[in-house]
Amino acid sequence: MEKIILSGLLPQEIGEKLGLSKKFRANQIFKWIGTGVSDFDKMTNLSLDLRNELKEKAELRSSKIENVLKDPDGTIKLQIKLNDGNIVETVLLTDKEGRKTACVSCQAGCAMKCAFCMTGTLGLSRNLEAYEIVEQFLYLEETSGKLDNIVFMGMGEPMQNLSAIRKAIEVLCHKDGRALSSKRITLSTCGIIKGIYDLADNGPHIRLAVSLTTANEDLRREIMPVTAGNPLAELKKAIAYYAEKSGKRVTLEAALLGGKNTDDISAKNMIDFARGADVNINLIPWNPVKSLPFTEPTSTEVKTFVSKLERAGLNVTLRTRRGRKIGGACGQLGKTVKDLQN
Ligand code: SF4
Repeated sequence: MEKIILSGLLPQEIGEKLGLSKKFRANQIFKWIGTGVSDFDKMTNLSLDLRNELKEKAELRSSKIENVLKDPDGTIKLQIKLNDGNIVETVLLTDKEGRKTACVSCQAGCAMKCAFCMTGTLGLSRNLEAYEIVEQFLYLEETSGKLDNIVFMGMGEPMQNLSAIRKAIEVLCHKDGRALSSKRITLSTCGIIKGIYDLADNGPHIRLAVSLTTANEDLRREIMPVTAGNPLAELKKAIAYYAEKSGKRVTLEAALLGGKNTDDISAKNMIDFARGADVNINLIPWNPVKSLPFTEPTSTEVKTFVSKLERAGLNVTLRTRRGRKIGGACGQLGKTVKDLQN
């Protein structure tokens, strides 16, 4: 008999699937899962008989940690093996103030083919289940203690697996479990307009980031194939709609590619795109991947680009690059450290 995986279930579902007659028992089990317990014998308020019954019928985790990689800058990357053998990566980032963020994956691989991203070279293997998303978060907390934020910026395009993400958020934010605040959650899309409207209309109203990379439509089509069906003018409208419906300022993200999207015209295009839209702009110098045809921008290139945007009155943040030595930085997920440049 196939065992029931509990990590992605809500209390009521746990009760129903396990056939528990007393509702509070399901709540107790759900609470233990949220605190990170991965062994039924540690659920000390359950009787021995019930714990034995649970071991027969259910599993607390479906996946297992295959590898733990630690960067000297404090970043940790977990390679997690799913029950069908697929490997996904999840990253813990710690900022200067000590705040910890889980960068989780929502797909094994990715179909979107952004030219500057290692994951995009893998193709899509499959969508993750809600429990496989929750488990990444639980494993990171097990490794590093309580986390402050979660960002859906790992492997995969979140808008292509929104239902599992919604369920994972429901589980992680449930007041009787991990009780994570939805204010602490960010979803990053490469610009799938239909998904942005869906999230705006049906929630949850978490923080939204859009990987813009460039506001030059021709260049964006070249390096982000998603642009073909999701043109910039329509994307801008969708971003404004999300901001209005959610009451939250949207972040535009751009990986700065040396000599590619940092020139005067690129700066002007980005200023025009962002002007009047009340957005934050998050810039990150591209993290190298050996097999991809790009170079890192020079520090002068980065400074000049940032100052042009700032002079235009935009809210710009230059992100610190973390986890590069372990292939854990933005755009590097999916292969081993030997696939990366020095
Ligand atoms: S940047 Fe995101 S959407 Fe684009 S290929 Fe990489 S993982 Fe997929």
